[in-house]
Amino acid sequence: ADNAAPKHASTDWTAQLSADAPASYTRLGEAFISPVMPEPVRDPHWVAANPDCAALLGLGADWQTDSALQLLSGNALPAAVQPWASVYSGHQFGVWAGQLGDGRALQIGELEHQGQRWELQLKGAGRTPYSRMGDGRAVLRSSIREFLCSEAMAALGVPTTRALCITGSPHPVRREELESAAIVTRLAPSFIRFGHFEHFSHSQQHQALQELAEHFIAHHAPECAAAPQPVVALLEKVARQTAQLLAQWQAVGFCHGVMNTDNMSMLGLTLDYGPFGFLDGFNPGHICNHSDSQGRYAYARQPNVAFWNLHALAQALLPLLPGSSEAEREAGGEQLLAALEPYREVFPAAMLAQMRAKLGLASEQESDRELVDDWLRLLAAHRIDYTIAHRRLSRFELAHEASAVNEALRDLFIDRAAFDAWALRYRQRLQAEASQDGERQARMLASNPAVVLRNHLAEGAIRQARDGDFNEVQRLLKVLRRPFDEPEQAGDAGFPPDWAQDLEVSCSS
Ligand code: AMP
Ligand code: MG
Ligand code: MG
Repeated sequence: ADNAAPKHASTDWTAQLSADAPASYTRLGEAFISPVMPEPVRDPHWVAANPDCAALLGLGADWQTDSALQLLSGNALPAAVQPWASVYSGHQFGVWAGQLGDGRALQIGELEHQGQRWELQLKGAGRTPYSRMGDGRAVLRSSIREFLCSEAMAALGVPTTRALCITGSPHPVRREELESAAIVTRLAPSFIRFGHFEHFSHSQQHQALQELAEHFIAHHAPECAAAPQPVVALLEKVARQTAQLLAQWQAVGFCHGVMNTDNMSMLGLTLDYGPFGFLDGFNPGHICNHSDSQGRYAYARQPNVAFWNLHALAQALLPLLPGSSEAEREAGGEQLLAALEPYREVFPAAMLAQMRAKLGLASEQESDRELVDDWLRLLAAHRIDYTIAHRRLSRFELAHEASAVNEALRDLFIDRAAFDAWALRYRQRLQAEASQDGERQARMLASNPAVVLRNHLAEGAIRQARDGDFNEVQRLLKVLRRPFDEPEQAGDAGFPPDWAQDLEVSCSS
């Protein structure tokens, strides 16, 4: 754009982006990244902005400058910004897919604020050397979904990449139909994936693999450096944090949709929001990705898939263990497998802890697992809305057996007798720890969200945005930032409307 404001003014935050901190991925050199310029789009405009992320970066209230718009739409870069894309590989739907890489993401630099370094990434800014047959673009629809969901997850306390803003353009993008382009600015301390390690391992670039491991340990897992086998310690760390992440996904009813190893973050972040979904009626076999015909990534399978993905990571790390003889290699393999073992304990324990919180249980008892399992079985038997059931359970009244709030919960169940039988056990369990209604309800209302990003909520914002009205995106963001508050519009916390049944979400984004 041709305007009078100085593009590189030092007061402008876009001039402060750097890319050569010791922790920068660029330090690894040319085997790891390719310099790439974004492809400009015509008439860029702001679609949505997220004040929480602006604050994380230490940006002032007036950060949405013209040069920021030009940068974040990939149109004009400050002189010092040298964007790059990284190469990775991965297993897709259980099959080795070979080289993938940042096909439509490019990094524009980093900002540090309050001791935290954030990498800024544009998703959808055009083709890169890793685009293969793709156009390097993302459509408005999927960009709104990613933007809203990253922030919804963050507000729910689930580790995730973040989203600063969306810029849009009339630039046409062909999917099943013609749509318009948008670009999400994503943030993370690092976007390193399991697939980065798999890439250098499977392509026999063992020196590069070693450098990647050293880099990651030095800057993202320093406590592993002193272990007898740092790489084994690293794998165990990733296994443990992935177990925690999966427990959080399951507890909040989040379905990722494309748990390929290239979408698995080494930092245990939720990464790559595509055909994700939140459970409506509780169906353990729920498949959110229309393209996943086999249901490989169905809700209930996610914890096992993550464990499978961790095995793929272990396999990739194998060349880093010392030894050249058959026996030494076998011993190395065993060490790596042993490092995955904690997953088997950490996941169920974390899951049970999540469910205890959702049921408001302050103490731990042997029988809790059964109580939780039977509750979930009850929800599954009649496909009871997962979020609404937990929200209503949060208002359960011990003190008033026949209270209206308990009736609202009970009314969800077609089989009242089955609910009554479970509720009797629940009541006894709460009484056994002298649970008090007020205190427990407050805890539960802070553990069981009123609002999750259901498909129909995102769809409402998308439809308006397509007509050029972005108010609903910004309104939803505001609601999702406080998911445990009762929303002003009751519909945000309500059952999905009938038309939502027909919404299909696929990999086409
Ligand atoms: P995903 O299924 O989103 O994890 O993407 C898998 C791979 O396809 C990654 O390497 C992406 O960068 C790449 N990809 C997805 N969509 C596009 C696109 N429109 N243009 C170029 N590459 C893409
Ligand atoms: Mg991906
Ligand atoms: Mg994707």
